[in-house]
Amino acid sequence: MQSFLDELADIVGASHVLTDPGVVAGYVTDWTGHWQGHTTAVVRPADTGQVSAVLALCSRAGVAVVPQGGNTGLVGGSIPMDGEVVLSTTRLSVIEHVDPIGRTIAAGAGVTIARARDAAREHGVEFGVDLASRESATLGGIVATNAGGIRVIKNGDTRSQLLGIEAVLSDGRVLTRWKELTKDNVGYGLPGLLAGSEGTLAVITRVLMRLVLPPSATRVAFVAVGSVGDALMVVDRLERAGLTLDAAELMTRSGIDLVCQHQQLRRPLSADAPFCVLVEVSGREDAETTLLEVLDDSHEFVLDAVVEEGPAHRLWQYRESHTESVGAASSTPPVKLDISTPLRDIEAFLNELTTGLDRRFPGVRAICFGHVADGNIHVNLLDAAPDQRDTLSDFVFHLVTDHNGSISAEHGVGRAKAPWMTLGRSAVDLDVMRSIRAALDPAGILNPHILPARRP
Ligand SMILES: Cc1cc2nc3c(=O)[nH]c(=O)nc-3n(C[C@H](O)[C@H](O)[C@H](O)COP(=O)(O)OP(=O)(O)OC[C@H]3O[C@@H](n4cnc5c(N)ncnc54)[C@H](O)[C@@H]3O)c2cc1C
Repeated sequence: MQSFLDELADIVGASHVLTDPGVVAGYVTDWTGHWQGHTTAVVRPADTGQVSAVLALCSRAGVAVVPQGGNTGLVGGSIPMDGEVVLSTTRLSVIEHVDPIGRTIAAGAGVTIARARDAAREHGVEFGVDLASRESATLGGIVATNAGGIRVIKNGDTRSQLLGIEAVLSDGRVLTRWKELTKDNVGYGLPGLLAGSEGTLAVITRVLMRLVLPPSATRVAFVAVGSVGDALMVVDRLERAGLTLDAAELMTRSGIDLVCQHQQLRRPLSADAPFCVLVEVSGREDAETTLLEVLDDSHEFVLDAVVEEGPAHRLWQYRESHTESVGAASSTPPVKLDISTPLRDIEAFLNELTTGLDRRFPGVRAICFGHVADGNIHVNLLDAAPDQRDTLSDFVFHLVTDHNGSISAEHGVGRAKAPWMTLGRSAVDLDVMRSIRAALDPAGILNPHILPARRP
């Protein structure tokens, strides 16, 4: 093992091979605190050449590798639970260019979303993916998880904004597909294949992504409604009125109460409604007038509302503080299940979830919130005993499947959902995924314990 560590140090420099338990602690525990692993070493290459040499060495030595960006993933995919080497991309941090005319950004996989956004804004354009984890989550990480976030409704998911990619295969070969073209149909869409591959097919080193125009002026409304169906009606009416929907986020009374306690905030509205939806709209000169008219004309759905000029950080804080507040309020690491259903099923799913939890898991609190217009709900289960985690997940995932949904909307599968993959995919589908994996990583060293396990 010492000679292996020495060879790593020869590639990246001794100061970038970390083994001290105190130093590696932050790399072996996930954001939720649930996944706590251990590692042979954390290695931090500075460029693609070093990533290539590290992977070639690990491949020859048969040492498994877990790629890691900002370590904000919520499904345990970035944690070395079996002693794997952690390949941290944080030093791949160069922003190569922002092109405000072609509206593209080219940057290293370790650049954070916040830095990419700030660089784009300096040129009068906008980075199209946004998540509450933006200060730490990386470009490589959002591509590897095909992250969603609050702008999917307007800009699409990460995959749809990915134009080009550079990635290193497990044997050290560098795959580059780098075209600033809207149309390019020569063969398989390899960047799209790597999007959502969760570190199992290659280590992403550079990305080329689309940028979008910033919205002219935005308005944010915090709207109290009586049901999820009513929230969806409000969203539908805003779009039919010609407004562009930039975001639509559902929250529950219990979630807002939790945030108010944790952040010491006052309730945003006087109506004590079971649900609230935060909508951000843009697209017309008279956006505010139109928004107010729609809310006024929707009095059968709208119980109360407040409207502010964007970016309206005060109103967004109620939504963006949910993840942190849920973590702080739970006596055990929350069980975090990110699911989606067709829009027509969300309400029935949430009702059956509440009834089923009350009946089968008394004492477990559910806080649900999410990107409602995408059918995406983050189900957070608080105060679950450690031995309840699997049965809770099993209950929720079967309910999701009964409602034609997906057990992973945007966070990926990682370790947390791997045992339930058959609920979302057929045997042939899983087999094709295993074949792709075996073709790209024949040595089986890239994140071997997540997604559909390799063939025995
Ligand atoms: C407060 C909070 C809010 C969040 N909100 C959202 C949200 O709205 N939408 C959403 O989709 N997610 C959200 N997330 C989850 C998380 O931020 C995303 O999954 C993000 O894309 C992870 O990026 P990362 O750089 O932290 O990746 P990591 O956590 O380091 O890794 C995630 C996975 O990607 C792999 N990986 C990372 N980098 C690379 C690379 N360069 N090459 C190959 N594989 C790699 C890892 O092996 C792992 O499997 C949130 C998380 C937090 C903590």
